[in-house]
Amino acid sequence: MSDPATAINCPVCRASNPLTAVCCRRCKADLSLLGRLESQRAAALDHARRALLAGDAATARRFSQLARRLRDGADARQVAAAAALLAGHFAAALHLAQQIHPPSDAS
Ligand SMILES: [Zn+2]
Repeated sequence: MSDPATAINCPVCRASNPLTAVCCRRCKADLSLLGRLESQRAAALDHARRALLAGDAATARRFSQLARRLRDGADARQVAAAAALLAGHFAAALHLAQQIHPPSDAS
């Protein structure tokens, strides 16, 4: 599977395509809706990061949740974890962080 930050996998044939692809290079399936979804997700994450910088945990949480609903991923969970930390929700922040980097089994 390709990096979702730089490529879209075709839902029909699984071929990796650039984010800007309008149709799949292999099977010609329409990828324009997936591209729009990724653009909206990137905008939501950008909005959440700006809210974090401004110290607005509630807005950061809301937009990181939107990004996760569009497509969950480590980048969105990192922003959500930071928003939870900023809001003082330490258990939620730890839970999100462990979803990104599961604790290693030392035994
Ligand atoms: Zn395809």
